[in-house]
Amino acid sequence: MVTMELATLITRQNGDVIHAFPCGTLPLDFVGTLRARRNETPTEKLASPADLDAWFVESGLVPRAEASVASDLDAATELREAIYALVWARLHDRRLPARDMAIVNEAAAAAPLTTTLTADGWMRSGTPRQALSHLAREAIEIVGGEQAALLRECGRPECTQVYLDTSRGHRREWCSMATCGSRMKAKAYRERRKAGTAA
Ligand SMILES: [Zn+2]
Repeated sequence: MVTMELATLITRQNGDVIHAFPCGTLPLDFVGTLRARRNETPTEKLASPADLDAWFVESGLVPRAEASVASDLDAATELREAIYALVWARLHDRRLPARDMAIVNEAAAAAPLTTTLTADGWMRSGTPRQALSHLAREAIEIVGGEQAALLRECGRPECTQVYLDTSRGHRREWCSMATCGSRMKAKAYRERRKAGTAA
């Protein structure tokens, strides 16, 4: 347990939230940390190890994160892009790329996060690699299981976030109704009004 004692534990106390979790599915929200990835100018939300630590905490994966180092950030972005490549293959009915399968499988083979029962409830803890292992395992269950048929890409062109359409009737068009859905509805309303004025 020496490593635990030596590790710097980071707790975000200022309440600033720097990441977004629009679709509520951890590995897919993680994919979304390269925001608007299919646009000309995507935004990298994992620009530093501290950004990664913040993601682990804000996602609810762990209550506080052990400080990541540069190699953890590299492993995180490599895993993220591998998950996206697998999701993309599923979205387009392509064969799963072997290299990306290997990256996700290797990450998943690392030790899982520790789950501890406490007096108040329960918590997870562990290293950045263990947190990535958790994400890889969840991604495998999505890509390799029945949920793969529910994978979608957000219909707002500026977004392109991937999500699982678990809605009844499977007609969900947006990663999140609160953000992209309401923006697209407002846009459609403005366009209808404009068309009405012109007519
Ligand atoms: Zn969206």
